[in-house]
Amino acid sequence: MSRNRTAPRVLKFGGASLDDPAALVRDVRTARSSAPSLVLVVSARSRVTDLLVEAVEHPRDRRRHERILASIGRAHPGLPEAGRRQLARLGRLLGELERHAPPDPPRVDRLLSLGERLAAHWVAARLHDAGVPAVAVEADHLGLTTDNAYGASCIVLERSRAPVRRGIGRLLARGQLPVVTGFFGRSLEGRVATLGRGGSDYAASAIAALLGSERVELVKRHVAVLSADPAEVPDARPLSELSYEEAEELAQFGARVLHPLTIEPARAHGVRITVRAMESPRVATTIGPAKQGRRNRAITVLRPLRLFRLRVPGGRQRPGIVAEVSDRLRRAGVNVVQLFTSSALLCLLLEPDGAARAARALRPITADDAAALDGPIPVGLVTVIGDGVLSDLDRLPSEAVRGAEGFSATPRALSLAVPVARCGAVVRALHAALVEAGR
Ligand code: ASP
Ligand code: MG
Repeated sequence: MSRNRTAPRVLKFGGASLDDPAALVRDVRTARSSAPSLVLVVSARSRVTDLLVEAVEHPRDRRRHERILASIGRAHPGLPEAGRRQLARLGRLLGELERHAPPDPPRVDRLLSLGERLAAHWVAARLHDAGVPAVAVEADHLGLTTDNAYGASCIVLERSRAPVRRGIGRLLARGQLPVVTGFFGRSLEGRVATLGRGGSDYAASAIAALLGSERVELVKRHVAVLSADPAEVPDARPLSELSYEEAEELAQFGARVLHPLTIEPARAHGVRITVRAMESPRVATTIGPAKQGRRNRAITVLRPLRLFRLRVPGGRQRPGIVAEVSDRLRRAGVNVVQLFTSSALLCLLLEPDGAARAARALRPITADDAAALDGPIPVGLVTVIGDGVLSDLDRLPSEAVRGAEGFSATPRALSLAVPVARCGAVVRALHAALVEAGR
């Protein structure tokens, strides 16, 4: 099955879009009338994964587990037999958690995968009730294969291709509508592995790439991709077309609307991504190859982060200083979000939970009297994203730059580290100058 018109269209429904099953059924019916061959990917219902995470965080709290199990059961009324078996399995896994705390990462992933399994059975039953021949498909049984990085695994496309095509192809040939679980697959060593929070978008885009689809649609309940978070900027506007690269930067720099790994399989296989809002079908964003002359700007913010200033006099002359810093941090399990350097100053941006470990790991470097480490300083990273964004440098408002701790730029993303208390003001100033006035 190479890419052709008979390859199925893939439609992914996120948690909030499952809140209104009647609207989902209408949406699927409309899609089936224009694309007879259709595959659905679903994530867990809203809050279900949060509840499962809560259960893992309180592994011995039996009372809490009972409450969580009951509440997840209530979120899936009218489960068919196969779904009720998954609910019973959830009860058993919670019991196991109580007895064997703390659980190892694959056990955690197995428990977290129950949200999507229940959703797939529940959605298939709602479609079935409406006369659509839907069947739930669990991605691990299908053969969607991931690496062994539990909690944040990556899909191994080459290993997944044959089983996914075979399994989905068989159902489609019988005229059935597969409803596939997002968020997890089966690891190379044969255990359940999740793709990281929000990972169903990524699963959907990988499945579309594997099936040779022309398009994957990510259906959200309320919003498509906007020029900023509307909670931050009331005038945020939908972006109608983005390049793969712009969308990737957006996801990496904190636009929560897309999982960061979603773009790559689609880009590599030429699958267009459409992100659309169920409630206002005209608000949609198409993600595809870059186009000359198109101007998109979006503002994102990552916060809270922690900034360290490492002063190493003669730093640039000291061979390998950046490598030494990165290596020490890597060994301490600290991920560097961003790095700004000048001759004697290295500014490191980290996730807050890595700050204490980072300070310890860097201490040996400051044993040299002239070297010093300042921080952690609470900051946010505000980023302007858009192909050709460097041409906006002369339009940066002083309001945005005042008090900044550092700055970095590529032709696609321009980031400022600013004190946390100023993040909101900086986002609004940049949006006003580069999005609202920037046409
Ligand atoms: N249910 C998972 C989560 O809440 C995956 C997803 O929603 O895409 O993170
Ligand atoms: Mg979700």
